Amino acid sequence: MKALYPGTFDPLTNGHLDIIERAAHIFDEVIVLINHNPRKQCLFSVEERISMIQKSIALLPNANKIQVMAGKGLTVNIAESIGAKTMIRGIRAVTDYEYELATATANMKINPNIETFFLIARPEYTFLSSSTVKEIAMNDGDISEFVPAPILKQVEERLK
Ligand code: ADP
Repeated sequence: MKALYPGTFDPLTNGHLDIIERAAHIFDEVIVLINHNPRKQCLFSVEERISMIQKSIALLPNANKIQVMAGKGLTVNIAESIGAKTMIRGIRAVTDYEYELATATANMKINPNIETFFLIARPEYTFLSSSTVKEIAMNDGDISEFVPAPILKQVEERLK
């Protein structure tokens, strides 16, 4: 079964990478989708984010089951167009749950054939978000534990 993992990934963190790896243990194919939202101000371009995810997943044992793509529009429509019946989302805390519940319910209304699967964050990544990484790096903090090693330099350089 194919699953779509949509997100902004600006930038990818070890929390995202952990969700990708765990999803690839369950599903035959995992497609990471950078859903381009022109209203969101991102630090990295879509092309940069694609390449950063590709570099990071290359280290995973099940890398051959993972692909990266960019898209625009409703994620359920993108899922349907590529033949994915499931979408993966990660949940860190109750605050995520409220937003994710509303989104998943709306998606269920739009396309009842697509199911959302939730994976809870590993305890060591519960606090971790792209915004946290940006905030720490901007203030000269050490982010080496939070972003995959292959993209560490690129993230640090952008935020100096
Ligand atoms: P979006 O703008 O779509 O929320 P994000 O890149 O912020 O995009 O997150 C994509 C998905 O990954 C969301 O479901 C989010 O809850 C999940 N996620 C983000 N950080 C973590 C983490 N540290 N552990 C587990 N899941 C996470």
